[in-house]
Amino acid sequence: MADLLFCSRYPFTAEAREYASTKGLELSSSLIEKAELRLKDALTTGKMKKTADLPSAEEESLILYAACRMIVSSAGNRYLINRYAVAEAKRSSDCLSSDLSARPSYVEQVAAEFGIKYEKSGQHFLVPLAAYLMFTPRSVDYKLTNREVAFGKVRVSAHERVRILEEAIKKRIEGSLPIRAEFPPEIKSAGAHMISLLPKFEAEIIRVGQENYPPCIKKLLEDLALNINVPHTGRVSLAIYLVNAGVSDERIVEFFRHAPDFSEKTTRYQVEHIRKHKYRMPSCSTMDSYGICIAECRCANPLNYRDSLHGRRLRQFEGEKKS
Ligand code: SF4
Repeated sequence: MADLLFCSRYPFTAEAREYASTKGLELSSSLIEKAELRLKDALTTGKMKKTADLPSAEEESLILYAACRMIVSSAGNRYLINRYAVAEAKRSSDCLSSDLSARPSYVEQVAAEFGIKYEKSGQHFLVPLAAYLMFTPRSVDYKLTNREVAFGKVRVSAHERVRILEEAIKKRIEGSLPIRAEFPPEIKSAGAHMISLLPKFEAEIIRVGQENYPPCIKKLLEDLALNINVPHTGRVSLAIYLVNAGVSDERIVEFFRHAPDFSEKTTRYQVEHIRKHKYRMPSCSTMDSYGICIAECRCANPLNYRDSLHGRRLRQFEGEKKS
């Protein structure tokens, strides 16, 4: 028999899905309105309220989860989907934080959902390296070079353990959306309403002064502007490049504002950290291994691109003069 409290707190799990499909939960107009309010919170604050732990609210929580998924799918906007995934994962993360002491078996169950087996080590936990690499959050603090690693396991605190699960939840939700289906008119209209609430971005701030940027950097900027989730390695490489290109912290933070999981405080901290510690720009072959090199510029490092471009233009010009 399903544990309804667990399902309502963690509606993305197999147990919750099974409960919802066998029970045949019903969607009503008032619940669609509530789901819209949740999504509005996700869009504006990046967070969604936790549902009260009342038996009467448990099934409602499952229906709201399903309704939000249908609305964002109907809207079909990647930014909205990613923003929702971030907020839903944060909501689950709040539940996990309180369950660390109140219901530790729930935390184990959520970890098992992602195939993560933690080992207790004093006040800390050991996470298998593969799971750590797969679900590590996008932050300088989680770089492997800053961690204690032994025998294929990484040491994390209780808080970091929850943070890694939050990332796993976000990835699962992002990856499972949009749902391809024909939705009822009320869901479609809620989806259209959400589209009308999306922020309007100024496209030109990503273009000014970028004529000489290498293709990989232009692509990363374009992806950010289109609200596509840029991987951690891409974000760090982009920030290092922009710092070296003389772009101010203020402006760099603005570029990242388009990311679905944008947090001004974290981004500013990371950019300042990169500037202060003079992070080195990854070479083109490292960029290639990250999967973010998209051309063959033959410049060895993206920071050389501008000079090699000018060199190519000069050689071309001289060749034209000779002929
Ligand atoms: S070759 Fe270097 S500069 Fe060109 S796209 Fe690849 S990583 Fe960027």
